[in-house]
Parts: sequence; C-alpha cells; structure tokens
Amino acid sequence: MSPSPPADGTAASRKRGASGHNIPVKTILLLGSGELGKELAIALARLGQRVVAVDRYDDAPAMQVTPYREVIDMLDGDALDRLVEKHRPDLVVPEIEAIRTERLYEYERAGITVVPSARAANFTMDRRAIRDLAARELGVRTAPYRYASSYDELASAAEALGLPVVVKPLMSSSGKGQSVVRTKDDLENAWDYAASGGRAGAGDVIVEGFVPFDAEITLLTVTQKNGPTLFCPPIGHVQERGDYQESWQPCAILPEDLAAAQAMAAKVTESLGGSGIWGVEFFLTEDGVVFSELSPRPHDTGMVTLAGTQNLSEFELHARAILGLPIPSVESLRAGASAVVLASSEGEPAYEGLAEAMAGGADVRVFGKPNARPYRRMAAVLTNGPLGEGTDTLRERAKAAAAGIVVRPR
Ligand code: AMP
Repeated sequence: MSPSPPADGTAASRKRGASGHNIPVKTILLLGSGELGKELAIALARLGQRVVAVDRYDDAPAMQVTPYREVIDMLDGDALDRLVEKHRPDLVVPEIEAIRTERLYEYERAGITVVPSARAANFTMDRRAIRDLAARELGVRTAPYRYASSYDELASAAEALGLPVVVKPLMSSSGKGQSVVRTKDDLENAWDYAASGGRAGAGDVIVEGFVPFDAEITLLTVTQKNGPTLFCPPIGHVQERGDYQESWQPCAILPEDLAAAQAMAAKVTESLGGSGIWGVEFFLTEDGVVFSELSPRPHDTGMVTLAGTQNLSEFELHARAILGLPIPSVESLRAGASAVVLASSEGEPAYEGLAEAMAGGADVRVFGKPNARPYRRMAAVLTNGPLGEGTDTLRERAKAAAAGIVVRPR
C-alpha cells in the first residue's frame, strides 16, 4: 500500500501559503500518469508540490516519481469521487482525455481548481463540442465538416463535402477509429472502423474535408491568471497512425500565419477558460493556417521542449501557470528535435542501443512503462543545436538515434 498525504497536510499547507510570500504546498490529483504526467510531476516536485499520481494501471510512469499513487478507472465517476474525498486536492489536473469529465464541474463547484477548467476538459474530449465552439461560435477557420450518426448520413456528408474526407469518432483521440475516405468504396470500412474506435456514443462521427497541408504545427499556448497569454515558438510534427513520430522547434512559418495561429489560439483558450498550457494544433496550407484541435494540457509533440529549446519546458510552464506563479516570458534558446521510440512486441521491456544514442550526442527519456506492446511509445530521443542552424540535421540525428534503440521483452 502506498502512502497517502497526511489527513491534515492540505489544510496546513493552505495556511502556510496564505501569506503569499512562499510557494504554497498544494495537493495535486494528477489524472493520468503517462510520460507527460511524469515530466509534469517532476516539474511540480521541483516546486515542492505534493502530487498524487492516478492511472488505471499500477507503476505508470508518473507514479515512479512521487510517493503517492492511486489505481482506478478514471471513466468511473464514483471512483473519482472517492479519490477526491480521500485526498481533498487543491487542484485536479487531467493529463488524459478518457476521464469522466462531467464530474469535474462538481469539483469546481466545491472550490477545487480543475486545470485549466472543467469546461475545457469537457469540451476538448468531445470533438463536436470543441469544433462547434471554434468554428461556429468563435469563427475560427477549420476544415469544412459535418456530423453523421448512421452510415447513410456518413455517405451524404461525404458527398456534400467532396472526397477525400477524414472520418473520426466524436469521442476519440490519437487517431483511434479514424480513417481517410478517398473513394466511395472506403465508406463502409470507415464507418465500421469509427464505430469500433470511439470511447462512448459509438456511431457518432465527424466527417471533415481533407486539408491538403504542407505541415502540421503545435502552438503551445500558456494562459495565466495574472499575466498575458504567452506563446511558445511553433513546433512542427509528423503523425502516423494518429500518433506523433517526431517533432521539432522552432518550425519555419510565415509571420502572418504565426500571427493568425496565435490569434485563433488566444480566442479558443480564452473561451474555454483557466490557466495552464494548451497544445493547439494547426495545419499549414498554401493559403494560410487552419485550426485542427487542441488539448488543455502539455502536448506530446511538446516533449521537444525537454531538449532545452526554451527557458522553461512545457511542463515547467504548466506547473507555474497552474500554481499561479509568474512566467515573465518564454524565451527561445536552442533549436531542437524529438523522435519517438516505439515497442514492437508485448512484454516487460528492456532497451538496447541507449548508450549508442547518447554517445552520438542525443539525450534519451525512457518513460519507464512496465509493459510494452506493438507501437506503444516507450521513450523519446532529444537533440538540440544552435538556433540559427535550422532543424533538418537535428531531426535526422534524432530519428537515426531513435531507430537504433530497440525495445525487447526482458
Ligand atoms: P486528430 O486526432 O484530429 O488530431 O487527427 C490525427 C491526424 O490525422 C492529424 O494530426 C493529421 O495528420 C490527420 N488529419 C486529421 N484531420 C485531418 C484533415 N481534416 N485533413 C487532413 N489530415 C487530417
């Protein structure tokens, strides 16, 4: 049994923080303990915070860096309630989408800070909510889209939008259940695949016109309680099977496209509310920038900020923003690249080639996941270099080093 924070710890810490002269020690319920949660837990621990790492399986990466852990199904609202009752957190920090997010409104009403806000967590886990907010209410430029709840509706949506289209379950992330329909013959498979890939409300899909993009970027955006919204230099990335394979920062972008992306990111994050870092994704096309989606937490492509590209990594920025600590500015210090290391088989993992990657000048973050399975992300390779020299060589070095690392069953 892992230790839990002392029952009186939270109240005492609130008192300690009341003066405003010290960083108050807060109890933070971290919902999701993967590689992003792990880095966030480290950043929070460096600020003396008490992090309770939660996931649906034991020994998840973030659990390995904090003494407090809980294993529950985060889609189970009653189990979430029990954890909140037990730990009485000051902050609830969602690190994944698959959470019973409606409960977050209740926690907010009870005076707990939900990061960045219950509204943000709820809207972003539902493609319909976030898309309608961005496109209809806020007038942000997105791919043309329709919704469909049956195969026939999908077929007529595809016809109205014109092929190719991208079909995605409404309740899904990371490309799960998602496919591109290029000809009418693909429609039936796309429908069946979407129905199998969604979390809830299976059968409801968004159908988007295919955006012929030159590049995809993540604009890390920091909203603050007592400060202006800040933007990190744009991060370029490449996706396969809905998962990021490599990212680099800064990504070349026209000044007018960057300004447009920043304006859209500011609008959407302001509407969703709260403080923290957001990964706002855009397509760069020949005729400007198109909003794709956003997540209200550190972004996987933002792991490149661990390569020393900025004065504060995305995790340090998130930690400061959610604690209400000042962030005077985000400074670009180095160019950087990241490339992921995927497992190819099941089992308890062992790693070959780490030393070679490091000997070649790369840095490696091994996430410490207790089990591997095909395509599971297990580690990331990081490279950096002077700002003026571009990112092409850094990307090649990161990818070559990642390719040299092999995850094998122990
Ligand atoms: P998503 O889960 O919506 O982020 O989609 C995962 C990936 O699929 C994106 O990063 C793109 O590479 C691709 N994608 C999604 N929607 C579109 C679209 N409308 N047009 C072209 N590619 C898309």
